[in-house]
Amino acid sequence: MSKIRLLLSYLLGVVLILTASRAFAADDGLGFQKKIEGKYVSVYGASEFDAASLAQQLNIRPSTEILAGRRGKSQDSDADMLARMLDALFLQVSNILDMHIYSMKMDIKICATVADLEAAYNRLFGTSLGGRRSFYVYDLNSIYVSAEAFQAGIIGHEMSHAIIGRYFGIPAPVKFQEVLSMYVEYNLKK
Ligand SMILES: [Zn+2]
Repeated sequence: MSKIRLLLSYLLGVVLILTASRAFAADDGLGFQKKIEGKYVSVYGASEFDAASLAQQLNIRPSTEILAGRRGKSQDSDADMLARMLDALFLQVSNILDMHIYSMKMDIKICATVADLEAAYNRLFGTSLGGRRSFYVYDLNSIYVSAEAFQAGIIGHEMSHAIIGRYFGIPAPVKFQEVLSMYVEYNLKK
């Protein structure tokens, strides 16, 4: 092998290593376990959480659930109710975006505290979360949120990132995603 080719293959190796190290760590370090399975959304927690109070915080109107065809039954558990609300929210966000992916599944990982959320972000990306209360990781198809920020506007915003990413098949440009996700959040809060 000539010296030039040797040098080139060495440089290529360096580039590949740098690229690899720039990617995030695949483990958020919090040991989430699946708690609730909906049609479109699975909910994970690193510790026990109160599905009833999360559902209350989410506050999805019964009319939204009915429009989504996910009307509750009286014997539903709190977990069933939360799953139903999240599925309804997913359909509502899909309608606002006019992007419909019926085979879509996504994970929501609920951190007990803001400190846990920060720790997960730090572990995944090696940088600070910068005061945000939620984030979406395209490669893990996961929304991370702290329990106190578990609200329709915030979850809907992150669902929007997930839907846009899947709709285009690649992570869309950040600004483009952010404008659309803020539009979703605005509509959900109206
Ligand atoms: Zn966003």
